[in-house]
Amino acid sequence: MNVLHTTVSKIANILLAKNIGACDVDNYNIVSFDIFDTLIIRNNLNKPSDLFDLINDAEFKTKRIEAEKLARAKAAKSEITLDDIYEHLPLYDSGIEIEAECSVCKSNSEMIPLFNYCRHSGKRILIISDMYLSSNVLTRILISAGYDVNGVDICVSSEYKDTKQSGKLYESVLREKHLDPGRMLHIGDNFQSDYIMAKRNGINAFLYKKDLK
Ligand SMILES: [Mg+2]
Repeated sequence: MNVLHTTVSKIANILLAKNIGACDVDNYNIVSFDIFDTLIIRNNLNKPSDLFDLINDAEFKTKRIEAEKLARAKAAKSEITLDDIYEHLPLYDSGIEIEAECSVCKSNSEMIPLFNYCRHSGKRILIISDMYLSSNVLTRILISAGYDVNGVDICVSSEYKDTKQSGKLYESVLREKHLDPGRMLHIGDNFQSDYIMAKRNGINAFLYKKDLK
């Protein structure tokens, strides 16, 4: 193990030890990450819907929130896509929201070393997200934030039609990718979706909370 590897390993494990004590990433050869508030931070947004303030239209925010509610009601328990939301916004272009989303998404400097360490260690990496955006848009966001996602599986609820929140997205990903949950660590910021539900599927989990600056 060279000096760089040792240093990055220390950074990664200090980070992992921050909340839950002993949890060594080297014990796992499959690591999955949540995206929002884990790998990616939305710059200057207090809550996700603040994004809609960036669209230059006084009525957009109210209409966009209502459209998402309608799309979720129509889909019942299934997960929705951005197109499902924009079916209820016929006068608006989802591309403008995607551009706004991309403009505020930045890498989380605390996670980059850990992500890169996992890559350099040859671990299998997945990204598992409950999100209405497509995997293509998420890939674009991650690449522009500086993550090398070549060979990384991006598994998103909008495409699987299952969520982490219900636990079923983990179930589907494990089955489809033929993964052994016992060799897998999931890292994310949501207690229910990223911690409880990962554990319920036999995956070890690390509940990550970014330090408030
Ligand atoms: Mg999150």
